[in-house]
Parts: sequence; structure tokens; C-alpha cells
Amino acid sequence: MPAVLIHSDKNRAVQHLAKSLELPVFEPSTVWLAGAGPGDPGLITMLGLYAITQADIILYDALVNEALLDLAKPNAERLFAGKRAGKRSCRQSDISRTLVSLARKGARVLRLKGGDPFVFGRGGEEALTLARSGILFRIVPGVTAGVGGLAYAGIPVTHRDTNHVVTFITGHGSGGKLPDLDWKAIATGSPTLVFYMALGQADAISQSLVAAGRDANEAAAIVSDATLERQSVRVTSLARLGDEAKCSTAPALIVVGENVRLREGLDWLGALRQGRVLSADPLGRMNLRDVS
Ligand code: SAH
Repeated sequence: MPAVLIHSDKNRAVQHLAKSLELPVFEPSTVWLAGAGPGDPGLITMLGLYAITQADIILYDALVNEALLDLAKPNAERLFAGKRAGKRSCRQSDISRTLVSLARKGARVLRLKGGDPFVFGRGGEEALTLARSGILFRIVPGVTAGVGGLAYAGIPVTHRDTNHVVTFITGHGSGGKLPDLDWKAIATGSPTLVFYMALGQADAISQSLVAAGRDANEAAAIVSDATLERQSVRVTSLARLGDEAKCSTAPALIVVGENVRLREGLDWLGALRQGRVLSADPLGRMNLRDVS
């Protein structure tokens, strides 16, 4: 059957690469917690890709691009362990327990998460359960949405003309509310702020930052479905963030800071796809730099 042939060809190609790169062997009775990247399947790591072709069972989250799962062995089991649009998620303790029991049965267990498993992904909690249960595991980092997703929006998380510090923040505290944060410290300590899981809290974030001294006119952006074909970017101001969020879809990142303005010069995807003309001097500083 051609489909099987094509599959085994792909599988063999990945294994060949894995061998020439001397990647570690995915041993039975172990768990690999891997990041799949923010959406574009090309952003998974080589180690993550290899793990997909080797796993006996894959527990994956909602933000994992399912195209990647098609590279799994034909007899590999795929278990959805995520949260979909407002529906209740699998309980975290259930997922951790499942990982332990599958590994004890001798399976190569792949826990595949969107982005990076240790960035707002509960990978640490799952790995600690494995450690407590004496299960050997490997962490395979991934491209986190707050870095890779913003790169696809043409917004670098650091740039020496705008920020030497960047802060990653979750908008999702316990009970789904905005976590109890020191807004003064955040507002003054970090010129660039990247919020995950914060669409529903955009108004509160904007008000808290302005109350803590940030300029209401400061640049901000909301990046939805970053790195995917349907990626959308709304550039706005801190003051208008709440209103813009109401018209935006999840998953989304919110970024606040002057480096949002760099998008005028760095929206490479817009240039490739829509022929956008990029600004040579998005911050309007060329002359300043030339004379300094
Ligand atoms: N571990 C993941 C984050 C999981 S939390 C990582 O490292 O990226 C889920 C949040 O990540 C979403 O609510 C959203 O804020 C962000 N996110 C993940 N993928 C995204 C994407 N493709 N576009 C925009 N935001 C994304």
C-alpha cells in the first residue's frame, strides 16, 4: 500500500538522520517530554521528530500540530490529553499517572506539548511525578511561542535599541484569574513583556500596567495562531489592548514594548506572502545611530 510505503520511507529518513547525528536511543520504559514548537511543524527539533517516529504511545496537547503525529509508527497509539476551547482538560494528575503506568508496561512514551514543555506547560510537574515514581525521562526542549511565535510576527524579543530585558508572564493564575503580580516591579523592571494565556485578561493587564506607570500609548501587539498559515497580528497601544483582545482569537500572545515597532522593518512573513515593503528604520533612529 503506497501510504505505508511513504510512511516507512519518512520514518527511515528520520532514523537515518538520527543515527548520523548520534541522537540518544528512545529506550522502552522511558518517557520523553518533548516540545513540538508553536505550530509550524517545521519548528519541532530533530530530537522531537525522532521521538515521534520511535514512540509506542504519544500523549499530545491541543496546541500540537497534528500533522506531526502522522510521522508516528503505524501501530503507535495517540492519546489526546489537552484542553479544547473551554472544555475541561484532562486532570493533570491523571496525565501524570497515565505516563507512569504506560512506562511501567514497557512502552516508549512520548509526552508531546506545544512550544517548550517547561514554559507554562506543566512539563515540570509531570517530570517530577516521573522522578518520584522512579521512571527515567528525557526533556526535549522546544521553540516556545513567546520567542518563535513573535519571530514569525516580525517582533524580536530582544533588540539592543529597545530592551535588554524581557519578561514572560502567564495571564492564567489559579482559578483562571490573573496571577497576583508585583505590577510596579514588572512595569519598571522590564521594557518588554510577553504574556501567555492572557487574552481574557488583556483589559486588566493594560490597566495594571498603566496604573504602575507605563505609557498608555506604548506599542503592544496581539499575535494569534502564531507561525500557522492563519497567523494574525494586531498592532495597537497599551490603552487599546483590552478592546483589541475582544476581536482576537486564541491561542494568542500579547506583547507590550517598543520592540513591537520593529515589526515595521522585520515583518518578513508579510514581505514574503503579501509583498509588504519593510521599513529600513522602524524606530526612526538611523540618524541618531549615525552620529553617535
Ligand atoms: N508550552 C507552551 C505554552 C503553553 S501555554 C510554549 O512554550 O509555547 C498556552 C499559551 O501559549 C497560549 O494560551 C498562548 O498564549 C501561547 N501559544 C502557544 N502557541 C501559540 C501560537 N501558535 N500562537 C499564539 N500563542 C500561542
